[in-house]
Amino acid sequence: MTGRPIPPGSTIGVLGGGQLGRMFAMSARRLGYRVHTLAPDHDTPAGQIADVEIVASYDDMDRIREFARGVDVVTFEFENVSAGAAAAAEETAIVRPHGRSLQIAQHRLREKTFLRDAGLPVTPFAAVRSEADLVEGARIVGLPAVLKTAAFGYDGKGQLALHPETNLADAWRSLDTDEAILEAFIDFEREVSVVAARGVDGSVEAFVPIENAHRRHVLDVSVAPAALPAALAATAVEATRVVLERLDYVGIICVEFFVARNGHLMINEIAPRPHNSGHLTIEACRTSQFEQQLRAICGYPLGSPELVQPAAMANLLGDLWDDSEPDWDAALAMPDVKLHLYGKAIPRPGRKMGHLTVLGPTPHEARVRVLEARSALRRVPS
Ligand code: AMP
Repeated sequence: MTGRPIPPGSTIGVLGGGQLGRMFAMSARRLGYRVHTLAPDHDTPAGQIADVEIVASYDDMDRIREFARGVDVVTFEFENVSAGAAAAAEETAIVRPHGRSLQIAQHRLREKTFLRDAGLPVTPFAAVRSEADLVEGARIVGLPAVLKTAAFGYDGKGQLALHPETNLADAWRSLDTDEAILEAFIDFEREVSVVAARGVDGSVEAFVPIENAHRRHVLDVSVAPAALPAALAATAVEATRVVLERLDYVGIICVEFFVARNGHLMINEIAPRPHNSGHLTIEACRTSQFEQQLRAICGYPLGSPELVQPAAMANLLGDLWDDSEPDWDAALAMPDVKLHLYGKAIPRPGRKMGHLTVLGPTPHEARVRVLEARSALRRVPS
C-alpha cells in the first residue's frame, strides 16, 4: 500500500533539534511544508527554522503523542530517541523511517547482528557484558581492537582503543557500561559513506559514495566522488540497497564503510537520517539529501541524486572560535565557497557549528580549496 502523498502545505514533525533538522526544515519550507520540531532545548538550530518549536524531553510520552497528533508525518534528525518515544508517535502519526530501524541503528550490537544476518560484511565483533566477556572477546576478535558502548554512542563517544598491553579489567571498568561491543581494529585504507533513500513505493536512489576523513573520531572533511574503483563503488551502493530493503525503510539513510587495505568493504555503522557526509549534496547534486528525505517521507517520487560536479565539505567545529569570531570576511571573499552556519550561540570545542562546501573540477582540487577556505577563517593573532 503506497497511499496518497502528503502534499505541500502539510506539517512535518521532526524529532530532534540539531543542524540536520535545520537543513531538512529549510528544504521542507522551500517546498511549502510546515515544520514542527521537538527537542529538550529552546532556540535549537532546527527550531529556529521551524514554524513551531516544542521544548520537551524525548521521554515525555504525553508530549510526544500530542506532538504527533499535530503533524501529518513524523521523522527524525537524531537517532537516540527511545523505542518508547517512537512507538508513542506511531500511535497517532505516520512515522518514517519506522521506529524499528531506529532501534536497530541506535544499538551497535543489534546493528552489527542485523547486518551480519543480512549477509553483509561487517567488522569482526563480539558482545561484551562483563570483564570475562571482554577477555574472551579479545581472544576471538584479537587485539588491537575498539571497545564501544552498545547504546548512545556517536562521534567516537563511549569508545576505547585496546592494545595487546592494555589491562582489560581497567578498560572494562573505565567504559562504565552494562553492554558493549568489541570490534577488531581495522587498518583501513579509506572510509566512505553511501547516502541513499527509499521511497514509499520501494524505489531506491543512492548518491555516489563519498570519502570521509575523521579527526579525533569526528568527521572532518568529505569529498565526492570517493576515489573507489567502479566495481567497489557499485558493491557499496548495492549493500546500501540491501540494508534499505531488509529494513523496509522509507526515508534517507547513511551507510558508513571501511575500505580495508585488501580492497574489501566492511560496514562500520548505519545512520537512519541525513548525514554529515551528505551535506555537500546541497550544492553538488541535483537533489540534496534533505529534499530527498522530504520526497521519500511524503510519498513523492525520489529526485535525481546525480553529482553535478565534484565537491568537498569541511566541518567547522567550535575549536575554530578560539577566543574570537572566525574571519567570515576571508571565507566570504572567496566566491566559490559556500558557508553554512547552524545558529548555535556557544562554540564549545568539538561542537559542530557549521561547514564549508566547495565545488571543483576534480575531487582533489575541491578538497584543497575547502581546506584553504577553512584556514582563512583562522585569525592570525596580531
Ligand atoms: P563510530 O562512532 O563507530 O563511527 O567511530 C568513529 C570513527 O572511529 C570511525 O569513523 C573510524 O574512523 C574510527 N573507528 C571506529 N571503529 C573502528 C574500528 N573498528 N577500526 C578502526 N577505526 C575505527
